[in-house]
Amino acid sequence: MADCLFCSIAAGDIPADIVLETDDVVAFNDINPAAPTHVLVIPKRHVASAAELEADDAPLLSALFDAAARVGEAVEGGWRLVTNVGPDAGQSVFHLHFHVLGGRRLGWPPGLL
Ligand code: 5GP
Ligand code: ZN
Repeated sequence: MADCLFCSIAAGDIPADIVLETDDVVAFNDINPAAPTHVLVIPKRHVASAAELEADDAPLLSALFDAAARVGEAVEGGWRLVTNVGPDAGQSVFHLHFHVLGGRRLGWPPGLL
């Protein structure tokens, strides 16, 4: 999709620190990490958010979760998988992405600001 930052990263047009790539999925380090491990897992195909996923996307979702789990394997002590949908949740990039966070104690519930 034109003018989509994460489509450009998936296409290799904008550089990113890629940690894992498959036919359908790319995982790269977040530019502004909120934890020692902060990796974004995205589909190469443009999907605006988790709210746009459809039943046919089940294989893609499986690939995204598999990639997240492979990233999480390296994180001692556990990890968290987060996707923000819409303004109240703080979504700032409108291409589906899962945050893999770990490497420190993560507060729960999140986002009490
Ligand atoms: P959201 O706020 O939509 O849930 O998450 C977007 C994430 O993308 C943020 O954590 C932000 O730091 C990250 N991000 C924004 N622009 C870039 C970029 O150009 N490169 C990388 N690697 N991460 C980015
Ligand atoms: Zn996109």
